[in-house]
Amino acid sequence: MIVEIDKQSGFCFGVQNAVEIAEKALLNGEKVFSLGPIVHNDKEVDRLSSMGLASINHEKFGKLKNCKVLIRAHGEPPETYRIAEKNNLTIIEATCPIVKRLQSKIKETWLRTKEGAGQVVIFGKPGHAEVVGLLGQIDNEGILVSGPDDFSKIDISKPVYLFAQTTMSVKEYSNLSDILRTKMEEKGIFEPGKSLVINKTICGQVSNREPHLKTFAKKHDTIIFVSGRESSNGKMLYSVCKNVNPDTHFVSSPDEIDKSWFIGKNSVGICGATSTPKWLIENIRDIISNI
Ligand code: SF4
Repeated sequence: MIVEIDKQSGFCFGVQNAVEIAEKALLNGEKVFSLGPIVHNDKEVDRLSSMGLASINHEKFGKLKNCKVLIRAHGEPPETYRIAEKNNLTIIEATCPIVKRLQSKIKETWLRTKEGAGQVVIFGKPGHAEVVGLLGQIDNEGILVSGPDDFSKIDISKPVYLFAQTTMSVKEYSNLSDILRTKMEEKGIFEPGKSLVINKTICGQVSNREPHLKTFAKKHDTIIFVSGRESSNGKMLYSVCKNVNPDTHFVSSPDEIDKSWFIGKNSVGICGATSTPKWLIENIRDIISNI
């Protein structure tokens, strides 16, 4: 049986960057807190926790004083930085530069357009850390939509500035933009670049994986998709594989592998999310090869 790892799978640049910053901060043996799990992958969180990185929630963060706290790749709202300053916390900044840029762009758009009744609309997952960080840039005055059912929140007679969380599906974002444009056209109020401004903010590190994974998943009899269950892009990229190859299995750890998946199969492809460490993918490859 051929067992192949997808070469593009493994951490994206932003997660790799955050993990390296954490590893460097932990080198001198000092305790470092991470505000939320550094990555949506329990195995990697366990590895870094054995080096001294402790994940905390916002409630615990609010009570901390005089220590070091890492801000993960998803970023945080300005309120987090205000609390850190008040409580004499040293921030270790690991927000992905792409998310940072998106935060600035959303803030700049909001400041520039709010007098003219412009609405900042964000396509994202409610409660997702990145979305909380993005909405925080604009005093939570943005409109969060997670699908067409939320369109009733938007007043299409006023200009709409559309943004997407970096890990959303390109296809869904484009469908959503099309529906919004059609609604405006039907009312005769669509003006390109004025009534609806669509910002392309889905990260290439995720969107480029979609077409690539489609080809990869078609190539093999069985696909093992490795990801933490909390990972937003993990769920999305898994469904990309599952749609083209129904024999795709989601695993978050090696003990979830079922030998019966490989009976009568000639080839297995292993791939994962942008938050899946390479070492875990390789570990799973070795186990499957032994089967
Ligand atoms: S998916 Fe893109 S934006 Fe998100 S952390 Fe990775 S590189 Fe940064």
